Amino acid sequence: MKNKFTIPKSHPRYPSLIIREGLTEGFKKGIVAAEGLIAQGRGEAFDYILGEKTLPPARKAIKAAAALLLLAKNPVISVNGNAAALIPKEIIKLAKITGSKIEVNLFYRTEKREKKIKDLLMACGVAHVFGVGKDASATIPELLSERRKVDPRGIFKADVVLVFLEDGDRTEALIKMGKKVIAVDLNPFSRTAQKANITIVDNIVRAMPELIKTSQEFKSRGEQKIKSILKNYDNKKILKEMVKIIRKNYVYEK
Ligand code: ATP
Ligand code: MG
Repeated sequence: MKNKFTIPKSHPRYPSLIIREGLTEGFKKGIVAAEGLIAQGRGEAFDYILGEKTLPPARKAIKAAAALLLLAKNPVISVNGNAAALIPKEIIKLAKITGSKIEVNLFYRTEKREKKIKDLLMACGVAHVFGVGKDASATIPELLSERRKVDPRGIFKADVVLVFLEDGDRTEALIKMGKKVIAVDLNPFSRTAQKANITIVDNIVRAMPELIKTSQEFKSRGEQKIKSILKNYDNKKILKEMVKIIRKNYVYEK
């Protein structure tokens, strides 16, 4: 991310401050919802505890996620305001490598914000953005929030959905529809993290470049090799490893 602001690179919290700036800029442009800034706060707290780096269990989850996206018949990347503000180019790169569609799906849905996100993604080079306005004409059963509205050509018929800063209810509903869900979520205790098939406990800003690199690498491998990565993957174990690291890092010694 470019530093268009005045934060000196030597500042000890430089990367974290750059993310904040990216989001507040996105908020001013009408891409990020006010609630998205609060969600960022929850994320920051967990990121601090994780040491603001991609930890080994997250790397294992990234490998499984790359494998699942490459093996999917109809993968979709679900984009909300925070993801659009922080990682637009990465979303497009990953979509190209894995043959994924890109769909806008907002908790706080307004057509104006959807269109702004669509325009931002198209300016970065996407040919089609699903789920905007009347295109989101299908419904995820049993879900009451605005996130129930999805594109019948996108998330509705997807077999694999990649989500960022997701809502636990929707993750559960997508899984009930028979889809596999990959979540990137800094909070290993959230319902999203607990319910997803693959949970990458990491900041989207760090996880995405790693996921792109891994997908690129795996693309040249044979299908059997990729399948074996998934076969040996256990999400509950990954989440347990993550919590173990948090506990180990933060034993308070008197
Ligand atoms: P759930 O509905 O799954 O239980 P929640 O209601 O606790 O989640 P929300 O406020 O709905 O959480 O969504 C924010 C989630 O996104 C939090 O778990 C937060 O840790 C995570 N998050 C925020 N910013 C980032 C980021 N940059 N990268 C990864 N995860 C993030
Ligand atoms: Mg929630």
